[in-house]
Amino acid sequence: MDPRTPVIGLTCAQMEPLFESEPRSLVRARQLAGWVYRKGARDFSEMTDLPAAARRGLAERHLVCPLQVLDHRTSKDGVQKLLVHAGDGQGFECVLLPYEDRVSCCISTQVGCAMGCGFCATGLGGFDRNLSPGEIVGQYLLLQRLSPRRVSHVVYMGMGEPLHNYDAVVASLRLFREEVGLSYRRITVSTVGLVPEIRRLAGERMPVHLAVSLHSPFDEVRSRLMPVNRRWPVTDLLDACRDFVRDTGRKVTFEYLLIAGVTDTSDQAEALASLVRGFPCLVNLIPFNFVDTPNGLKRPSAAKVRAFRDVLERRGVNVTQRMERGHDIAAACGQLKGRHEGKLAKRRLS
Ligand code: SAH
Ligand code: SF4
Repeated sequence: MDPRTPVIGLTCAQMEPLFESEPRSLVRARQLAGWVYRKGARDFSEMTDLPAAARRGLAERHLVCPLQVLDHRTSKDGVQKLLVHAGDGQGFECVLLPYEDRVSCCISTQVGCAMGCGFCATGLGGFDRNLSPGEIVGQYLLLQRLSPRRVSHVVYMGMGEPLHNYDAVVASLRLFREEVGLSYRRITVSTVGLVPEIRRLAGERMPVHLAVSLHSPFDEVRSRLMPVNRRWPVTDLLDACRDFVRDTGRKVTFEYLLIAGVTDTSDQAEALASLVRGFPCLVNLIPFNFVDTPNGLKRPSAAKVRAFRDVLERRGVNVTQRMERGHDIAAACGQLKGRHEGKLAKRRLS
């Protein structure tokens, strides 16, 4: 592994000491931060307005970003997916999602995930490690280099549970806002429902968009699919979401995974409508993306999805359905792990 430490992940203020022998250290730090976060430089040699000696000095002790691309796939619909690692061979994925009116990206916060949701490829693979703030923001910068248009939106919906890596995620949010220049309103953090951390995030004065993976209004069903529900059941979760809305003034999105015969029943549609009545929220329906699970979960038919949606609409709930893209490169949520395991294992040995 490269013994040099990365500068990505440092704030502009934290970069200033790197120029202690320079007369105008703050100006230099601002230049460096601009190159790293706004111009996406990968090498100090690109930073032409820094004195050559300063560039050489930096390159001896530091690297810009440790992320290396292991695999790059482009889907027929323009979605691009990168498998990256930070020198240790532990791979994680990020996805570029161009739309007509914006370009979004989906980034990971952990290698693996400890939450163990039974429908999720990442969860089924277990937890390896947390990503650092620099590794989180670095994914955005790599994807920005692939996009001719500005990547205007970020969703924390890749591998891992963002609120289980709370400090690094909050530090990365701050870097997006302060250094990259993206407003909090363009960032969505998705959580499995860690109640204390939802409350903590509400107090950070970061009006990010919160997406909560609800997936069933019934504790019995939710606990079977998502072990986290045994600790923080649906009513506690809804209370925390209510506090988040009160403290940030932002609506919450409830992600709702439709699994055939498990979460797509009409009684759950009715109960969900009652649960969110009067709550400033959006329900986003996600038909299950096939993952080979031990309990053989299946995707519902289009008619069943429509019927579930109809119940919610009739009851006045704001509903959307996730636009599914990048199918041919397995870029969908919950599929961001598994297909490269063989390759990574080989790399670790070599
Ligand atoms: N850990 C966070 C964010 C990453 S998962 C969370 O759970 O919210 C992002 C989204 O993908 C979540 O809503 C998750 O429930 C969903 N997901 C996981 N596996 C899926 C699958 N097989 N099909 C469809 N969505 C899935
Ligand atoms: Fe982790 Fe989210 Fe997958 Fe659950 S759905 S195992 S919280 S990544």
